[in-house]
Amino acid sequence: MSFDGDDHPALSLEGARRAIDAAIEPIVATERVALKDGLARILAADLVAGVAVPAHDNAAMDGYAIHADVDAASPRTLHVVGKARAGFPYDGTVAADQCVRIFTGAMMPDDCDAVVPQEVVVADGDRISFDGLISTGQNRRLAGEDLVVGSIVLAKGRRLAPSDLGLAASIGEAFLTVFRRPRIAVFSTGDELRDLGQSLDVGSIRDSNRYTLIAMLSRLGAEVIDLGIVADDPDTLEATLLRTCGTAVAADAIVTSGGVSAGGADYTREVMHRLGGVSFWKLAVKPGRPMAFGRVTAEGRSALLFGLPGNPVAVMVVFYALVRDALLKLMGARVDPMPSITALCDVPIAKLPGRTEFVRGVAVRGDGVWTVRPTAAQGSGILRSMSEANCLIVLGHERGAVVAGEQVEAWPFQGLV
Ligand code: AMP
Ligand code: MG
Repeated sequence: MSFDGDDHPALSLEGARRAIDAAIEPIVATERVALKDGLARILAADLVAGVAVPAHDNAAMDGYAIHADVDAASPRTLHVVGKARAGFPYDGTVAADQCVRIFTGAMMPDDCDAVVPQEVVVADGDRISFDGLISTGQNRRLAGEDLVVGSIVLAKGRRLAPSDLGLAASIGEAFLTVFRRPRIAVFSTGDELRDLGQSLDVGSIRDSNRYTLIAMLSRLGAEVIDLGIVADDPDTLEATLLRTCGTAVAADAIVTSGGVSAGGADYTREVMHRLGGVSFWKLAVKPGRPMAFGRVTAEGRSALLFGLPGNPVAVMVVFYALVRDALLKLMGARVDPMPSITALCDVPIAKLPGRTEFVRGVAVRGDGVWTVRPTAAQGSGILRSMSEANCLIVLGHERGAVVAGEQVEAWPFQGLV
């Protein structure tokens, strides 16, 4: 779907998501990585448990391993016949009037089915006694209660979290098969932009978007190629895009910011047009109206192109609302939606139906209920509002104004922004 020019209707966020989704083919190339290097990588094949975890029934507490006996007299007195600690099993037999001193993680002796915690026991030499009923299975962990042999431990498409790496280690996997990371090139466009270390002449500004984008892409798990600042010059832009797509850089995707609105110096638009395969969208999203999406082709290969708006907040909003899911799909990951909460909005928010609005908010949980209010500054150029906020309040396309006390959806972005 292409919406060139300003006289076309704006494309809804859902419409843009669908069009992008339809254009993306996941990466299929895989590689083996050491477990320690697996964080945020995407699993390329189901990981199946070749062993049970735990391998044996074992004690969940320090105490005494016994036969549970519902009919036993209380207090019950037992004779201690041995000791079991983690790594050192007790391999004798245990009669009904006997028990084994046991420590957390130790294998349960064959004849025992419960552990009496040491806190409830009165010990006297090699005799213990305790009151009350201990039933079968109490304080015992069962073999396979974490992982059963043959079960799928982690599914293909899983974006690996710290617990996943521990889980893989628990079944002895030293290496994992993951999808190749996508190569994503980033550059900023704008004659007014100056990089860190360059002098700021009158009218120029720092390029902040590239630093935000590089961080968001790195956190997602991409291999980022930083192409710096590209001037608002059609020939330079064209050459940069072609080189980035071609075998020299071989990017899977190019993410740019700026130059996609219909302003006089916005040559990105014109150049992307010339390269073909790129559509311009006027998104019905605030902030984040102008956006380009499509493919660049050069030297027999092609790269996805995400031309994001120039305004720093719009860059981040469009990234989370559209680009994140697109790149996760490209990476071969199962795409889970952004985490979402329902919160009571403290204050009214003006809104007209017909576009999706993302309002930077601060959400607080009190008494089990989330409440949220917008940050003071909401301009799409005010990046500080993203750092002050801990969520995006999402006001859907159809809805109108929010009245104070109304429920709204919010995307908490702890760990993302
Ligand atoms: P543009 O769409 O190129 O007209 O940019 C919209 C606004 O965002 C302008 O105020 C630009 O100066 C600003 N802007 C564009 N690129 C960047 C950048 N990389 N870092 C900070 N601000 C930017
Ligand atoms: Mg510009």
